Amino acid sequence: MDIYSLPRFPLATLPTPLDELPRLSQELGARILMKRDDLTGFALGGNKVRKLEFLIADALAQNADVVVTGGGVQSNHIRTTAAAARKAGLDAAGVFFSSPAGEVNGNLLLDEILGAQLIYANANKNETERAIEMVCDNLRVQGRRPYLIPVGGSTKRGCVAYMLAVQELQEQLRVQNIQPDAIVTTTGSCGTHAGILAGVKFFGMSVPVHGVTVSRPVEECRARLARLVGETSDFIEHALLLDDADIIVHGDYLGEAYAKITPEARSAIYRTAQWEGIFLDPVYTAKTMAGMFDLIRRGVLKRNSTIVFWHTGGTPGLFGFSNDVLGQ
Ligand SMILES: *Cc1c(COP(=O)(O)O)cnc(C)c1O
Repeated sequence: MDIYSLPRFPLATLPTPLDELPRLSQELGARILMKRDDLTGFALGGNKVRKLEFLIADALAQNADVVVTGGGVQSNHIRTTAAAARKAGLDAAGVFFSSPAGEVNGNLLLDEILGAQLIYANANKNETERAIEMVCDNLRVQGRRPYLIPVGGSTKRGCVAYMLAVQELQEQLRVQNIQPDAIVTTTGSCGTHAGILAGVKFFGMSVPVHGVTVSRPVEECRARLARLVGETSDFIEHALLLDDADIIVHGDYLGEAYAKITPEARSAIYRTAQWEGIFLDPVYTAKTMAGMFDLIRRGVLKRNSTIVFWHTGGTPGLFGFSNDVLGQ
């Protein structure tokens, strides 16, 4: 399978900028560049937009009439999936693992505006995939043709989207003659991190990819990353040989739980906004930024080195967690 001939439903505004962050760099003592996938454009942007170009194209190829996925109440993935489905003329259903939230704000407000069918599974987070399947089963009984997108859109197609994002980054670095020493990204359902790893291998970049997990234990991430890169490798019929050492996941910045803010993440939101005028989100990118601050402080990421921080979006989540962000 040639990755360039994979069906694609255009959504994103590409390439996203690769920005220098001079004030942040000065504060941290390392050169920080930011890959602005918060600015993928469609439906308020974020990393899921790249993945959805391939997932929605596949839904259309399979003649689906409704797209079903799942996540947390402030899921960026459900918001962008619902918007992409709408643009493709399809219905959308979002399965939340939790019970109904109090206020309709942030991503949840956008889900309502998009007219997505919202289902509350009242289950554990790790039962979300099962709950999505059950919703698909019910839709089939009603004569509908559901297309199932797993949590986070982390599939081989989602990974191919991030392989191509790596090529885009590689070209930007080449033009500016920059050799990065590390890439830092958020590790959630792992498709973004896996796709970046696959892309780095495929396009022959020699740069370590540091993931900061925000929702799962490190060992679970490592297993998911290996599986996703393996599935992608089979899919594109191109060997992507991964050493154990290539899989780098930092587990110290997750805090109490997924979507529970930490004091360090809160501080990272304020510092990044006040130094660079850039907003992070409390669930994903702020924990990752807090992780990068600490990894530089501890010398795991070297001072005076060049680091690409991959901003994966999530900005609407700020409005869904305003009290957490304010520390109230
Ligand atoms: C989903 C998401 C991530 C995590 O990406 P995965 O591919 O699920 O690991 C990171 N940042 C934001 C803002 C997200 O919405």
